[in-house]
Amino acid sequence: MKKKIMPLIAGNWKMNGDAGSFLEVEVIKDRLAAQEINADVAICPPATLLHRISVALHESLAKTGAQNCHAQANGAYTGDISVPMISEAGGSYVIVGHSERRGAYNESDSDVRAKAVAALEGGIIPIVCCGESLDIRESGKAIDVVITQIINSCPDFSAEQSIVVAYEPIWAIGTGKTASVADVDEMHNAIRNALTKRFGDPGTTIKILYGGSVKPSNAKELLSVENVNGALVGGASLKADDFLGIIEAA
Ligand code: PEP
Repeated sequence: MKKKIMPLIAGNWKMNGDAGSFLEVEVIKDRLAAQEINADVAICPPATLLHRISVALHESLAKTGAQNCHAQANGAYTGDISVPMISEAGGSYVIVGHSERRGAYNESDSDVRAKAVAALEGGIIPIVCCGESLDIRESGKAIDVVITQIINSCPDFSAEQSIVVAYEPIWAIGTGKTASVADVDEMHNAIRNALTKRFGDPGTTIKILYGGSVKPSNAKELLSVENVNGALVGGASLKADDFLGIIEAA
């Protein structure tokens, strides 16, 4: 039996989006207002658009989030943004430990955990990402590697706080390849067991998102898997119709 957890559909725009993207945001806002939606929704645009999109989505069901944060609240960290800045810009979430950042900027599990701790301290929900490379998947060690990432990257949290976990097999991100339902089921069950072991009862309701080439045509199947509590969506979050198709599948 699937546990009753409100799914979260979060769009990660990555380094995409400009003033023209507001048309997409307006469509999302209007369509969400016109129907019953069974999901929490978040859009994580580039930092330059975060405040404007947060204002545009004011009083909408959809919230906003950032794609990264620094672990410190302020200081001499050229080019970074902090959790208080994200909060002031209207963000409710921050993605931490996306594989593109773990890969390109060598972010370790302890870096990711420090960012997630900062998010919680600043009243923002961290979306903690994990996922294995193709080599690891083929070596049969995917579950061990992902569970270790999660245990080392997720911070402790209090009853007033919450964290979200996103499982994103690296080989499925932006490639059009999706993990099989059987693999997603196996991994999400293993993650649920690890979260429950680590956090006790609160671990049973942490949202575990799947990410990796989710689109309207495969969303229903993926979102119906036990312990898949939403999706982290890259490419398909850039077009309102595609993103709404995924939200409507939840
Ligand atoms: C992502 O970047 O988090 C992602 C899942 O991308 P895509 O949906 O494009 O595979």
